Amino acid sequence: MRLLIEHANVWDGSGAPPFLGQVLIENERILAMAPQSETLDADGAERLDARGKFLMPGLVEGHAHLSFVDTPRGTALGELPPEDHALLTMDAARKLLGAGFTSACSAAAAKIRLDVAVRDAIERGLTDGPRLLAASPELTVTGGLGDGRRLHLHQDSFGVAVDGPDEVRRMARLCLREGCDTIKLNISGDYGTESALAEATVMTDAEVAAGVEAAHAIGRRVAAHARASESVKRALRNGVDIIYHCDFADEEALDMLEAQKDRVFTGPAIGIVLARLESLRGDNSWQGQGFLERLKPLYEATCRTHHEMRKRGIRIVIGGDYGFAANPQGTNARDLEHFVRHFGFSPSEALQAATRTGGEIMKRGHELGQIRPGFLADLLLVDGDPLQDVKVLQDNKRFAFVMKGGVRYLPCEGSPHVRRM
Ligand SMILES: [Zn+2]
Repeated sequence: MRLLIEHANVWDGSGAPPFLGQVLIENERILAMAPQSETLDADGAERLDARGKFLMPGLVEGHAHLSFVDTPRGTALGELPPEDHALLTMDAARKLLGAGFTSACSAAAAKIRLDVAVRDAIERGLTDGPRLLAASPELTVTGGLGDGRRLHLHQDSFGVAVDGPDEVRRMARLCLREGCDTIKLNISGDYGTESALAEATVMTDAEVAAGVEAAHAIGRRVAAHARASESVKRALRNGVDIIYHCDFADEEALDMLEAQKDRVFTGPAIGIVLARLESLRGDNSWQGQGFLERLKPLYEATCRTHHEMRKRGIRIVIGGDYGFAANPQGTNARDLEHFVRHFGFSPSEALQAATRTGGEIMKRGHELGQIRPGFLADLLLVDGDPLQDVKVLQDNKRFAFVMKGGVRYLPCEGSPHVRRM
């Protein structure tokens, strides 16, 4: 297969301004590119006139939860039988591809093998979806985020409760054995839990170290849920690779992040916070008001922190905990708008977070996330200019195609999915 995309407004993901150009694709990779004024040797290639359209790298979701299938509560995930849950996870993968995301780095699965099975099914061509790095469920301490159990009930949520370094090590090794690329540790609490709030650091140094040791021993990574300042420091001290949220990071935590900025990735996952704030507007119940009182300071802290992290050049990926009823799968491109509106990113910076930095968090910065000769042909051809308004990427009817590895997908009429061309 040879395809020459001509007369496109080419934005390559590096941060350089777009140029009128042409891109030659051969099989799954980009073979060559040039300004339109030059000639490109494109013998035998199909020609596609992309006049007036914007060609950019495919988006990368940096905090995916494909098996969080838009339920209102975490415990509703525990109630789903694995068979049904796997099919719903496959469907979320198709929606994510339909939303222009050609790669996804999972931040946790709701059951141990859900990400693994869907990742492998996509790689084998059994179903369509983004390139996927599979995560474990959220390893959490008793009473931490994702521990849905109650003394009088058998009830699961999206987490696995483990206490002490031995239990963390055993569960991490089990998830690694089952094929997870990333082990997820919930080091801090969260605004939605009663026992461990977002400002609390509940996983001990020894527990974090045990999880990191198990993953790093076989070359895999650890991602942390870390809202409290101390939880960010604990993650950094123990070698965690991806540190999500960082909302309450103090000056010392920011300095530590900056000192390790070539090693670590961060991601705010702001989408769910904004969706919850939105849904609480006009809710005058005491539960709603209590929730709002916890969320507002968190939102303010996360805005301060991410303005600062952007200035310090710390690597930040988009991805906003999509997969809850208030923040459904397939609406992930809203994160770009959030970065511009709430964190002071320029549209170009937000798009770079979603493409070039995304390729790096996929561990494939040498071949993913930019339009360059030799890179994988993961592309979006858009009717509109996201550098003028990032919101155009929220409407998949504007996608002339989504391309993954040289394969073109077209939006389906009236549905969030795409179909192979
Ligand atoms: Zn998450």
